[in-house]
Amino acid sequence: MAGDERALVKKEGGNRRERREKEKKGKASGVDNTFRRTWDKDEYTEKAEARDKAEQDEEESALDAKRRKRLERDPLHQGIIVERAQLKQRDFSLDLTSRLGKSQVITNTTPLNQQAGYYCSVCDCILRDSASYLDHINGKYHNRALGMTMRVERSTAEQVRDRLSQHKEKKYESEQIDFVPDGFDRRVLEQQEEEERLREHRRERKREKRKGAQEEEEEYGADPDMAMAMGFTGFGGGR
Ligand SMILES: [Zn+2]
Repeated sequence: MAGDERALVKKEGGNRRERREKEKKGKASGVDNTFRRTWDKDEYTEKAEARDKAEQDEEESALDAKRRKRLERDPLHQGIIVERAQLKQRDFSLDLTSRLGKSQVITNTTPLNQQAGYYCSVCDCILRDSASYLDHINGKYHNRALGMTMRVERSTAEQVRDRLSQHKEKKYESEQIDFVPDGFDRRVLEQQEEEERLREHRRERKREKRKGAQEEEEEYGADPDMAMAMGFTGFGGGR
């Protein structure tokens, strides 16, 4: 049995050799579709290189576009100003919370300034959170678009003294709301506050009166009904 098997293997081996010889002949004659496919490595290397290069070019052009837009916003580069001004303090207060906690439907066609987050109308861009918004509006490119450098004017000792005394005075002034939401008049708000203060004052006075009456009661050791019965009502209780 074992001997027969060996003979069989030998026979197969012979067949394989014959087949390989046939394949060699096939290759020589032209197309070889009887074995694994072969690849033209040079051609595909060339293709891969071309694709890499195209991708790189695309990336660079996106960066260039960003740079170009930045320059278009810059008044110095547009020739509108001859020199950038020094950095100035913001003369308005920021509204970071007006859209807090609101829901909104956003589609692909929603304009940038109505999308979620903080929109910068100067640079026509959207920032997704307040921290990055603050970074942006305090940043170099935003301030350049406003015609300012990041350098600040050097203050004199006199200016510093003035500012300190100003803050000292401010401390004693009444606190003001530094931000008034849209659609509200500051005067209306102030009036409302004044009314609230008056109401609180009246309430306070009432409470004091009541307290005073109670104390009187304790002092004289008589409740009002008893006092009435005894004929003296006027203890300034105001009832
Ligand atoms: Zn900006």
